[in-house]
Amino acid sequence: AQVVQAEFVKSSVRTEDCPPSDGIPEFALVGRSNVGKSSLLNSLVRRKKLALTSKKPGKTQCINHFRINDSWYLVDLPGYGYAAAPQELRTDWAKFTKDYFLNRSTLVSVFLLIDASIPAKPIDLEYASWLGQNQIPMTLIFTKCDKRKKKKNGGKRPEENVQDFQELIRDFFQTVPPWIMTSSVTNQGRDEILLHMAQLRNY
Ligand code: GDP
Repeated sequence: AQVVQAEFVKSSVRTEDCPPSDGIPEFALVGRSNVGKSSLLNSLVRRKKLALTSKKPGKTQCINHFRINDSWYLVDLPGYGYAAAPQELRTDWAKFTKDYFLNRSTLVSVFLLIDASIPAKPIDLEYASWLGQNQIPMTLIFTKCDKRKKKKNGGKRPEENVQDFQELIRDFFQTVPPWIMTSSVTNQGRDEILLHMAQLRNY
């Protein structure tokens, strides 16, 4: 399930502009700005700077396709919840990512990134609920699981924040989607993610 080849294909501003799907399965990474999405992407492909993302949150406003091992796509979507982004941009964001989720027929699962080093934000729950309500398959990826608890972070360990979020989700859906705990510092969860993607592709 390892990544031996990773190649940037295209940045698209609309679903219609995405590369031809040709039945190629794809997985989308999405999460709040600063959740650790570019770090995770780079850790998955074991290459630094592949994501080519700007450090300025909210700047990458495109659907970015990467072809992996010449057989499937990893898709990087812009982060949500960036408070400083103008309202207009935020609305656009919601519109075009939701359009992508609903209309990209080869999308196998959305990998929703949740920062495990802090208590989950309402917007994370909102996002998970929207995906659930629209029957879009999702996998929860908890990031920054290496971080130690800090008073200012709510004083909880990553494991506790993960549990809290799962409970919220369970209250809502009566079930919890598949989930994986990760760290881009220790590479925890990397192989598990790749294995999970391989299993989903073979269904
Ligand atoms: P993005 O905005 O979602 O693409 O987030 P980045 O990948 O740029 O990461 C945001 C910040 O979190 C950076 O300062 C990273 O160094 C840090 N970070 C990302 N992943 C991890 C992780 O697994 N563990 C720790 N401790 N910090 C992380």
